[in-house]
Amino acid sequence: MDNIKKLTEKIIAFRDARDWKQFHNPKDIALSLVLEAAEVLEHFQWKSKEEIEAYIKTNKGDIGEELSDVLYWVLLMSNDLNIDIAQALEKKMEQNEKKYPIDKARGKHTKYNKL
Ligand SMILES: [Mg+2]
Repeated sequence: MDNIKKLTEKIIAFRDARDWKQFHNPKDIALSLVLEAAEVLEHFQWKSKEEIEAYIKTNKGDIGEELSDVLYWVLLMSNDLNIDIAQALEKKMEQNEKKYPIDKARGKHTKYNKL
């Protein structure tokens, strides 16, 4: 939790130093989040399972950068919408625990409403 707060402060300081808040509205932040998520996906596009395994071994840094870009927007949006993202994730995980009880969901990829 403390890490999330520190990372968020770093991101906001980075933005404020550049006076970029004026460009940040929820729509464009959400758009940026999805675009960065697509950049994660781009690493795996057209690759077979075997190619992906080999690719990950030599491109972890680049994949990490794109994941960081996604996290950047998640933290920034949470901050701007005044959402405690750590608390929101805790709550979501509690919901997931109920949706996917271990005895029913273990080893299955079935959606919760079909378990
Ligand atoms: Mg990126």
